[in-house]
Amino acid sequence: MKPVQSELKRWMEQNENFQENYNRTRQEVLADPEIKEFLAAHPELKKNEINKSLIKLYEYKTQSKQCDRCKSFGSCQNMLQGYSPILHVEDNEIHLSYEKCHSRVDYERQQKQHKLIKSLFMPKEIMQATIADIDSDPERSEAVRQLLHFVGQVKEGLPKKGIYFYGPFGVGKTYFLGALANQLKEKNISSTLIYMPEFVREIKASFKDDSINDKIDYFKKADVLMLDDIGAELHSAWFRDEILGSILQYRMMEGLPVFFTSNYSMDQLEGHLATTRGGVEEVKAGRIMERIKQVSKEVRIAGGNRRDI
Ligand code: ADP
Ligand code: MG
Repeated sequence: MKPVQSELKRWMEQNENFQENYNRTRQEVLADPEIKEFLAAHPELKKNEINKSLIKLYEYKTQSKQCDRCKSFGSCQNMLQGYSPILHVEDNEIHLSYEKCHSRVDYERQQKQHKLIKSLFMPKEIMQATIADIDSDPERSEAVRQLLHFVGQVKEGLPKKGIYFYGPFGVGKTYFLGALANQLKEKNISSTLIYMPEFVREIKASFKDDSINDKIDYFKKADVLMLDDIGAELHSAWFRDEILGSILQYRMMEGLPVFFTSNYSMDQLEGHLATTRGGVEEVKAGRIMERIKQVSKEVRIAGGNRRDI
């Protein structure tokens, strides 16, 4: 008999502890200011329902509400990281659910924005450029004005024409594109920025894995396409006509803006585009130039070489 008796005794002691714990927790939960407020807002809730839902109320009490106990998404203390509890009543029953907290929403927005700029082969300083950082000296002021004009128009929809920035090496043409991409990112518009010589290489390399059509499609349909340093690449007639030509044709028809930077003015670029290994093809170069003019507006950037500063 002894073992049974001692078991029973232990059970009763534990049960007493359990009762004690339960009562203490119940009081704590019901004394919590937010829970008090919730219960006061729902006088229809029966005592029985409150007792039955004590575990939910306890869970609610212990969790951080909309980041009130955590500094950032990374340091979230909640059981479900980045989610904040909410109590509600349905058919006289207490329900506990979770919604995304402010930090998580912010974090997700940042992640999404980060993905918006698909910059291919761009230096870090360009990716961090901002319009506010561009010196507004007289030689750059027209270019800045045009850039701001474009940004200003965005609220009524993406303008059909981008800008063709040209000027000497080092004046900050690529920097302008980076600054614009960052500004557009704030407005949830994605930019695809690519350095022309890499673009040619990328397209040629994609022959091997059959991804060429997907890639061309991607450049055709990007919200804002930015082609950096056009004229610096080694052209083949094929790239000029089949790739660049078809991307520009598509964007021209769809009214999608393209930005360019170049060391050449549009007139000079035409001569450059005409000359390929296959000889001089002025008509074909003229056709490409027509498309470039349809999708962008020529703007000169002058000034000194920023690389010398
Ligand atoms: P470009 O494309 O005209 O040859 P870049 O845009 O590459 O010139 O600019 C040359 C250098 O000057 C880069 O290192 C760039 O980061 C820097 N730069 C250009 N404009 C600015 C600016 N407004 N503020 C700070 N650095 C700049
Ligand atoms: Mg450049």
